[in-house]
Amino acid sequence: MKIPFLDLQAAYLELAPELDEAYHRVMQSGWFILGGEVDAFEREFADYCDAKQCIGVGNGLEALHLILRAMDIGPGDEVIVPSNTYIATWLAVSYAGATPVAVEPDRRTFNLDSARIEAAITPRTRAIIAVHLYGQPADMDPIIEIARRHNLRVIEDAAQAHGARYKGRRAGSLGDAAGFSFYPGKNLGALGDGGAVTTDDENLAERIRVLRNYGSSIKYHNELKGYNSRLDELQAAFLRVKLRQLDAWNARRSAIADCYCDTLRNSGLTLPFVPEWADPVWHLYVVGSRLRDLLQQQLAGQGIGTMIHYPIPPHLQPAYADLKMRPGDFPVAEKMAEQVISLPIGPQLSSADQELIANCILQAELEC
Ligand SMILES: *Cc1c(COP(=O)(O)O)cnc(C)c1O
Repeated sequence: MKIPFLDLQAAYLELAPELDEAYHRVMQSGWFILGGEVDAFEREFADYCDAKQCIGVGNGLEALHLILRAMDIGPGDEVIVPSNTYIATWLAVSYAGATPVAVEPDRRTFNLDSARIEAAITPRTRAIIAVHLYGQPADMDPIIEIARRHNLRVIEDAAQAHGARYKGRRAGSLGDAAGFSFYPGKNLGALGDGGAVTTDDENLAERIRVLRNYGSSIKYHNELKGYNSRLDELQAAFLRVKLRQLDAWNARRSAIADCYCDTLRNSGLTLPFVPEWADPVWHLYVVGSRLRDLLQQQLAGQGIGTMIHYPIPPHLQPAYADLKMRPGDFPVAEKMAEQVISLPIGPQLSSADQELIANCILQAELEC
């Protein structure tokens, strides 16, 4: 590929001196699990998200899973999730022993359609997981209002939304708790796996701290049947370096989104819709086309890497065959899976490459 979908090597090179310094600092400290780097990162990331507490964990899936466990959500319970999300949102519910109940997204924003939530609530429903998909905040106020009326918890899946704002407020401070992923390709990415929970609830935070570390707060005293799911010192040290760049790198993504928005206005593609209350962070720039596969092939022919987020919705994955759902059950999610394509939007994408991508799209021959 002349233009890869995402260039993580370029991201490293831009910060190499600081990342290498962080690496040596941790190596020389001789301390690798739950130490000063994780403590410092947790404080810095909580501040960044305007949340009182942050708990570093192993990855984004574990962040969501531990939130559910800490809320005592488990077997017999139902949790509302979007029909169109990365499967991790659903898996977190399944790992807790609860059942994911899907609700379709709004066709324009791709985020949970709050008007459809109440029809999915049953006496077993305990929580709603709102995903800020592609880095666009979900419309949280109506979701929180419905949750209050039905006595449900609200969890943000903020794995794609580090730094996004909803009505001026940061993702990670909008619900009862939020799960973040630091998978390398995320807006705030580690150089390996990592994740975090943010919350204002001190009790919930304490339970998650205990659950991530074998159910123990005093070494070899186990209060709960916990897990081993800790952010490690090395990743925390890298994340502290990258957190200092997050706003600048999100601003570059936003400039690329503006460029696509201008140049692709008359391309015939469906472009992202941004409600006036949303400050997205453009984890992905997702456009829609009936001739998506052809477009992807033609761009690949010009050496331009694209991705499909996501080609199969969770309810049609073999992993969820037990739920016995069929094509047609969630038509909005299914149509998205057929028509969406993500264009390169990494912060290291040059303006020359942005123009090249836009020109290739405008010149693509999309005839059936
Ligand atoms: C990446 C992602 C996750 C999972 O994060 P991992 O760190 O890969 O476990 C969860 N939800 C969404 C929406 C994601 O994009």
